Amino acid sequence: MTELEIPVFVFDQMVAQAQAAVPIESCGILAGNDNRIERLYEMTNIDNSPTHYAMNPAEQFAVVKRMRAAGLRMLAIYHSHPLTPARLSDEDRRLALTPDVAYVVLSLKDAENLCAKAFVVDQGQTGEIPLTIVKG
Ligand SMILES: [Zn+2]
Repeated sequence: MTELEIPVFVFDQMVAQAQAAVPIESCGILAGNDNRIERLYEMTNIDNSPTHYAMNPAEQFAVVKRMRAAGLRMLAIYHSHPLTPARLSDEDRRLALTPDVAYVVLSLKDAENLCAKAFVVDQGQTGEIPLTIVKG
């Protein structure tokens, strides 16, 4: 994964979910093909925490099944940071164990200027990749 494109309507969905979840972090899966995200699957944050997130493995398994049935791949796992910037925390990095996906963090810290960034984590090394919001 070297870059991600996210349509405005998916970005808006991610923001709406994150704002509704405040003060806890929201999370979910972004699916699509190649570098282009087509769909968002909201997931339950079973940590129910303002600073941590975890997805329910059974719920994740069910979503992956639906995603494959729709001809989509898991491109990214996203979560929100209600109070902190759009970067991976040490814990986010440590728990970034799913291979071949990007990790998207949406920060609500600056309500006037919402910020989402995408990262890849490879053997403990984190790199930011371009995340572009596109029309459609
Ligand atoms: Zn985080």
